[in-house]
Amino acid sequence: METKKKNIAILGSTGSIGTQALDVIRANSDIFAVEVLTGNENADLLIKQAIEFNPNAVVIAEESKYLYVKEALKAFDIKVFAGNKAIVEVVTMDSIDMVLAAIVGYAGLESTISAIKAEKQIALANKETLVVAGDLVTALAKEKGVNLYPVDSEHSAIFQCLAGEFQNPIEKIYLTASGGPFRGKDKNFLATIKKEQALKHPNWEMGAKITIDSASLMNKGLEVIEAKWLFGLKPEQIEVIVHPQSIVHSIVQFIDGSMKAQMGLPDMKLPIQYALGYPQRIKSDFPRFNFMNYPQLTFEQADTKTFRNLALAFEAMNKGGNSPCILNAANEIAVEAFLKDKIGFLEMSDIVEHCLQTVSFINKPSYADYVETDTETRRVAFNQLSNLTIKQ
Ligand code: NDP
Ligand code: MG
Repeated sequence: METKKKNIAILGSTGSIGTQALDVIRANSDIFAVEVLTGNENADLLIKQAIEFNPNAVVIAEESKYLYVKEALKAFDIKVFAGNKAIVEVVTMDSIDMVLAAIVGYAGLESTISAIKAEKQIALANKETLVVAGDLVTALAKEKGVNLYPVDSEHSAIFQCLAGEFQNPIEKIYLTASGGPFRGKDKNFLATIKKEQALKHPNWEMGAKITIDSASLMNKGLEVIEAKWLFGLKPEQIEVIVHPQSIVHSIVQFIDGSMKAQMGLPDMKLPIQYALGYPQRIKSDFPRFNFMNYPQLTFEQADTKTFRNLALAFEAMNKGGNSPCILNAANEIAVEAFLKDKIGFLEMSDIVEHCLQTVSFINKPSYADYVETDTETRRVAFNQLSNLTIKQ
């Protein structure tokens, strides 16, 4: 008897995670089917994906591209919608079993919440969702009986180490960080960096925003907050350790002192596949690790003096309330400005710090408070941007 395929909705299918998820689904079409695909503005890729995977529906967030997508898919039995509201609505479709949340940034929050409310299982790539509103999102998931399967490689590593250990208390976790392309550099060097250099990550190929976040160590800061919510940890139970080879993807230390690590070559397809297929491990032909190619795996402390973003993220997590939401919004504006050559690399941290100091603190924010905090922080960050001189 043929078992029923798992119907997946991929939010952000045209991105780095989205396209790799489709690679996984293509290779396992006996297990998975695509029910929904969404993109922001890359209509041509969305159309191409729709024709290949024949989903029930596609959504293009950019409404001006609706007619273009509709026309291109008119010969197919595929529903076409446009706009962010449509993404929030489409995830509630009965036929969806699991939603892969792979939109980048705050923009992914509302659709993830909508999917949890509709009791869809979630494969979570969009870490910003937990950074912004981790308390509300994890409480809602618990209430609805929804599991949040981590896609982020470090969190997938922790999750894999915890399989069979869910009743055993965690003493602490070590989140590994590659250190990014500027590991070991000082502030004078960082001040001269252009986006082309920052966009070259040594071990991972990712979307532009997370690549810049990795270079500035903000990505690790966001991941620390993500881990706190995913695994119910106290801030002091989370430690970052720099591991430039990106082979050990993270480590759990249990209360008996035993440590479990998950290892493998850096390839996002593995954590994506684990999240989509859980609890099943699916046979893959991904390249295998060879010890002789990595005779040395090294570990060092993160330099939070030079890479202030990591320290700012810890600070925001410790303070709690809407502070991580402020951190995230300020960082999104800062990264966008850096990618447009409006500010230098170090000024990204200046903007984040300024917003953390300026935007009003709320101890127990509601969803509406988070939305308001995001809007207000973006306003403050924009103001601060215009105060900064453009560096050549
Ligand atoms: P990309 O920038 O490559 O892709 C983002 C996706 O979201 C695209 O499909 C994009 O559409 C869509 N999108 C962007 N803005 C909006 C919006 N306002 N409304 C609706 N859709 C939008 O990002 P990544 O795939 O690299 O990252 C996705 C998420 O996964 C991030 O949260 C990131 O932190 C996380 N992640 C990524 C990893 C990676 O290896 N890439 C690793 C671990 C976590 P379009 O293409 O049309 O612009
Ligand atoms: Mg990661």
